[in-house]
Amino acid sequence: MPTAFVTGITGQTGSYLADILLARGYLVVGLVRGGDETRQALEERTPGLDLVEGDLADEQHLARLVAEVAPDMIFNLGGLTSVAASWDHPLDTARITALPPAVLLDAALAVQRREDRPVAFVQASSAEIFGSPTVSPQNEETPVRPVNPYGAAKAYAHYLVASYRSMGLAASSCILYNHESPRRPETFVTRKITRTVARISLGLETELVLGSLDARRDWGWAPDYALALAMVGAAATSDATAANDYVIASGVSHTVRDFVAVAFAAAGIDDWEPYVKQDPRFRRPVDATELVGDSSRIRAALGWRPTVGFDELVGSMVRHDIELAGATPPSEQG
Ligand code: GDP
Repeated sequence: MPTAFVTGITGQTGSYLADILLARGYLVVGLVRGGDETRQALEERTPGLDLVEGDLADEQHLARLVAEVAPDMIFNLGGLTSVAASWDHPLDTARITALPPAVLLDAALAVQRREDRPVAFVQASSAEIFGSPTVSPQNEETPVRPVNPYGAAKAYAHYLVASYRSMGLAASSCILYNHESPRRPETFVTRKITRTVARISLGLETELVLGSLDARRDWGWAPDYALALAMVGAAATSDATAANDYVIASGVSHTVRDFVAVAFAAAGIDDWEPYVKQDPRFRRPVDATELVGDSSRIRAALGWRPTVGFDELVGSMVRHDIELAGATPPSEQG
């Protein structure tokens, strides 16, 4: 039974990845922080995981864990995930998002040498490494020029992955564009919108307050992105030449305004503008304007492709939030 070691397993994408790896018959060892409130939800939703307590910032413990588990694959999804929060916590961002990949890569290479078998490493990189790109869409050759501490931390890890790949480790960097689902926290604009729209449609709230409606993002379906990570890990384990940098994206960008309109329509409200207010508090001083990814490489190399389009993605998040708020989705009414 192959063993996968996963950091960030309690997060949105980590939890979908855990489902996929278990379904494939892997032993899944997940790192969770002591006192992580999301652990219980993960254990209830996904039984069969082998969760170990530890902190990404505790490098000695992390290295020891990898040496003991001796995994066939390591998926690094842990770290601070918010661009906005990275400005408030630049040092923590470096400690949790930039440095642990160095520990994990080094430990992975040691296991590979000790056991004399391949260890695949898959880094959850981010479109934020491109900063405010001048080319669109971006691909694996687009210059890495981060514009915030989160992007800078991910960029460091990204380069490190390539360095270890040149040392013979089957290390890959999946450059993930925004990916959403009902498991997305409300600190992200998509879930904030779908939850508030659901509650407005049920008469529980009266307005949706946002920052810029013109910001554009390439929003994909998180389970598709978790599958891409699993595919890269599996491919690189059986053939080290499959280890590479891969853009994981839908290839289509939409504005926040588009997201809002589709979300209200999914809740049965066509005239949405009276409900939406803009507040400078939610505007970002520096914000990527046009992030859209070209995922041709992984499509050609591994046959990955997105399975859920924009309207379906937004609709399923809205329906989930209506159910959560305690009512039947409009599509199932009368
Ligand atoms: P990010 O791309 O990882 O920063 O994901 P977010 O979901 O936090 O933000 C996506 C885009 O939505 C960014 O361009 C934000 O500036 C924009 N945005 C507009 N209004 C809001 C808001 O109220 N909250 C958040 N989080 N983002 C907003």
